[in-house]
Amino acid sequence: MNKTSETMNDWGAMIPRSPAVKHVPVWQSEMARAITDPQELLGLLALDPELLSAGAARDFPLKVPRSFLARMEKGNPHDPLLRQVLPIGAELLPQSGYKKDPLQELEAMPVNGLLHKYQGRALLTITGACGIHCRYCFRRHFPYAETNPSRDQWHSALEYLRRHPEISEVLLSGGDPLSMNDRHLTELVSRLERISHIKRLRIHTRLAVVLPERIDGQLLRWLGATSLQTVVVVHVNHANEINHEVIQAMHKLRRANVSLLNQSVLLRGVNDDATILAELSERLFEANVLPYYLHQLDRVQGAAHFEVEDNRALEIMAELHAALPGYLVPRLCREEPGAPGKTIIQGVRSY
Ligand SMILES: *Cc1c(COP(=O)(O)O)cnc(C)c1O
Ligand code: SF4
Repeated sequence: MNKTSETMNDWGAMIPRSPAVKHVPVWQSEMARAITDPQELLGLLALDPELLSAGAARDFPLKVPRSFLARMEKGNPHDPLLRQVLPIGAELLPQSGYKKDPLQELEAMPVNGLLHKYQGRALLTITGACGIHCRYCFRRHFPYAETNPSRDQWHSALEYLRRHPEISEVLLSGGDPLSMNDRHLTELVSRLERISHIKRLRIHTRLAVVLPERIDGQLLRWLGATSLQTVVVVHVNHANEINHEVIQAMHKLRRANVSLLNQSVLLRGVNDDATILAELSERLFEANVLPYYLHQLDRVQGAAHFEVEDNRALEIMAELHAALPGYLVPRLCREEPGAPGKTIIQGVRSY
């Protein structure tokens, strides 16, 4: 029994158990080796075991790839990468206005696994698995088990896309769509290619950054070969996440003709500072990635301690605007149920 098939909770990331299949891509074995034991994490970082909340870890388990851990600073309990993944007691405090499904996504799902909220684009949640568990994630309570399409259920999502000629862009999301193996991804993409009104494929992934080994030859082959125009939107919140391997991975994607964008979440104690965000933009550009959105977090239960007030966020934006060329300034936004797109947050004063 291989370790991966024990630990992955969806079929997309599973490795066939047949002894005939020997080749396991590096990223899959690295995903299986991710740290899930909080005491191991704190031990490796030489930190006090008391920092952890076992209750919070039960609520949403810890998961960190080892290569992401290597980008953290030892002995620093305030490390901005650590804060994104460590379960702490503050998550368990009840906060009014913070809900389990803040986006009411289940209502926007016309068929299993497909969200069609905005004109011209539809989003497929093709897997519930992620390479890392981010404490502020609105999906921490999302009932994926019920809403992930198994392969037969792709049928109804694809049928929906065929019946809606106004949809020209398909977003792959999750979970992390790149936690699904390339064989399944290739099959899905070839089925999308056969729908003539679909022009663009957009992949929203954090795995490409937290585990840059994911951008391997197999992935680049099908991404480079698809007839769809492709966009990869990565998710980076702090410049320290971008090491040499990430830069190399992004360059490989560029060479495969993929457009690269980044979205971040504005997080108290991680990146709520103009200097930190300016450094992030500069570092992203070194990796060939343009900043796209800076999200105000979704008000999900357990994430209130990360919130940055809109007034403060607008101050940070004004400083960013003064410090950077326009193309390195992300758009501050939030998602509001029922809105026709992301809501851009702008101050009354002009800057
Ligand atoms: C965010 C989102 C999109 C993409 O919005 P863009 O503004 O085009 O980036 C599409 N569909 C859903 C359901 C979304 O949540
Ligand atoms: S969906 Fe994205 S933000 Fe949420 S846990 Fe997975 S990688 Fe993190």
